[in-house]
Amino acid sequence: VYGQTYSLYWLYPLLVALPVLLRTRWAVWLGIVCGVIVTPLVFYQFEPETATIICLSMAHTWLVSAWLMYAVNVQSSRLKDMALTDALTGAFNRRYFESLAEQALEIWQRYQRPASLLVLDVDHFKLINDSYGHATGDEALKGLVTLISQRIRGVDTLCRYGGEEFVVLLAETGAIQAARVAEEIRAKVQEAALAPGSGLTISIGVADLTRASSVEVWFQAADAALYRAKQTGRNRVETDNSGVAASNADMEAVPLWR
Ligand code: GH3
Ligand code: MG
Ligand code: MG
Repeated sequence: VYGQTYSLYWLYPLLVALPVLLRTRWAVWLGIVCGVIVTPLVFYQFEPETATIICLSMAHTWLVSAWLMYAVNVQSSRLKDMALTDALTGAFNRRYFESLAEQALEIWQRYQRPASLLVLDVDHFKLINDSYGHATGDEALKGLVTLISQRIRGVDTLCRYGGEEFVVLLAETGAIQAARVAEEIRAKVQEAALAPGSGLTISIGVADLTRASSVEVWFQAADAALYRAKQTGRNRVETDNSGVAASNADMEAVPLWR
């Protein structure tokens, strides 16, 4: 009887602490299993009335702590989303892009695994806003994000760099393949007619990281290519010159596009 009493005292805090300690759905199941084991013990040792009260208070405490843990988890994942994504489009934000690009650069420097950057800018977006209103402009940006997200692979990342400017980080992809993806995205966007009237087009600058000594240099290379795309008539893809020169044949063979 003594051992049973003590085991009960041990089980009680365990029951309460489990969801807090483990923070997973398994903890909930474990708590339920513990409860099922403890309940007959309680009824065996105490009067039915006392046993009922003990069981109810145990269940109550356990439910409250489980619910608190659940609420904390939901809240923290929501905060994480808010810190990494853009509120309007749901694309990742610039901060997240910068940390990913930094990581890609380190992987390149250590293992020579390539990556490419597409810098996208909507053509004459000011005109769309001025002609059809800001709300229409917002919808067009959301449509653009949906469309690009559908095209890129799970290992690639689309981020809103700011305003109507986006970046796509293509993992394991050299400049030549990246330019092909960019061209495909450009054509798809034009085809989708995301804005009323003459639709919406984008210009894209492409750069791989073979010549990049820092994220800034890498971004500048793609941005310079974007500038050329704008200068030469918009609705175009331009690739960073130095990047193409550095891209060798095996770099072209790397990615497996679906
Ligand atoms: P270009 O082809 O040279 O890129 O011309 P542009 O008009 O797109 O270029 P510019 O950078 O001058 O204009 C960008 C416009 O994008 C200005 C700004 O009002 C608009 N814009 C930026 N962010 C948003 C947004 O979140 N929603 C809407 N509706 N418009 C935005
Ligand atoms: Mg623009
Ligand atoms: Mg712009």
